[in-house]
Amino acid sequence: MPNTALPKLLHMMERLIAEPSVSSVSAEWDQPNVRVIDLLEDWLRNAGFHTEKLAVPKHPGKFNLVASIGSGPDGLVLAGHTDTVPFDQSRWSSDPFTLTEREGRLYGLGSADMKGFFALALEAIRDLDPKKLKQPLVILATADEESSMSGARALAAAQTRLGRHALIGEPTGLRPIRMHKGIAMECIRITGQSGHSSNPSLGNNALDGMSIALAEIIQWRNELMQRYQNPLFEIATPTVNLGHIHGGDNPNRICAQCELHIDIRPLPGMDLETLRGELDARLQQRLQHTGLDIARHSLFGGVPAFETPASAAIVQAAESLTGHSAEAVAFGTEGPFLQQLGMDTIIMGPGSIDQAHQPDEYLDMAQINPGVELIRQLIHRFCLN
Ligand SMILES: [Zn+2]
Repeated sequence: MPNTALPKLLHMMERLIAEPSVSSVSAEWDQPNVRVIDLLEDWLRNAGFHTEKLAVPKHPGKFNLVASIGSGPDGLVLAGHTDTVPFDQSRWSSDPFTLTEREGRLYGLGSADMKGFFALALEAIRDLDPKKLKQPLVILATADEESSMSGARALAAAQTRLGRHALIGEPTGLRPIRMHKGIAMECIRITGQSGHSSNPSLGNNALDGMSIALAEIIQWRNELMQRYQNPLFEIATPTVNLGHIHGGDNPNRICAQCELHIDIRPLPGMDLETLRGELDARLQQRLQHTGLDIARHSLFGGVPAFETPASAAIVQAAESLTGHSAEAVAFGTEGPFLQQLGMDTIIMGPGSIDQAHQPDEYLDMAQINPGVELIRQLIHRFCLN
């Protein structure tokens, strides 16, 4: 890539970083992403793309952007999220919203995760000749990946047709990823009856019930670890973490209510709803003679586990272009939602996940030219051939 192109790319990255777009489940942190979406829409329109700005239902100020050029059923989608995580300004060496170059690194909130990717994608399409497109190219920019994934969920719910192959440019050091675990967080609440501690028959102790539930969950975890293994993951089994418990108020009072929060990380092939159903059935069965009430709800919608077959064209292309076999990672992405839209999806982008969600987040400038070239090659294979 000629060096003369870099100033334009850096300028775009600078503009994207300068627009705050934090997403968070805490209302005091959460911000609209519309200004980032508007910037991208403007640039993509000028590049000849047809754009659609889609409001995310029930999330005011949050938008997805679908920008496409060319037509046909088997297009390539370059996808990314427009939001960032919250930040702690006092721990940054420079302003998180001012793209700052130091020692071959570009510092800024979202430089790696993942506003920088959009600047690379726009650079890669700069000289694209629309008349040569045999399949469409789509740029997808989503809202709220770092919090509720409401943007990707809305696209999946609406069954928005986007293309056949997708690349999500999350920071992976430009190595292809085709698998990650899912995440579910569940709250289990056991309700009994309070009463004076001196006479157990005056109440029904929720903590007694919870001790049975805890033993059952640990038993279930052991069984899941026996049943499911995938050696491609660093932690080869599903995990179930007991993360939070609260119950009762006084030693001399029968505990009326106890609440437990757990985190479940299933492997690909394990369905979240099936797991929740299994958990419910086991707890109900174990506690049915206690007279205690047991209820479970999900603390958020969960992210399904994700796997794209090694034989998929996008996996094969990414592997041959990078010389790396596609791997499995421990973080969740919008991949499963794009899959629900019928796309074979791979995760691969510039920057390192080690720098994401950290003060002094940066993008290593050595990844920029190879990243742009990689995107160009994928466009060439999937849209121009
Ligand atoms: Zn990300």
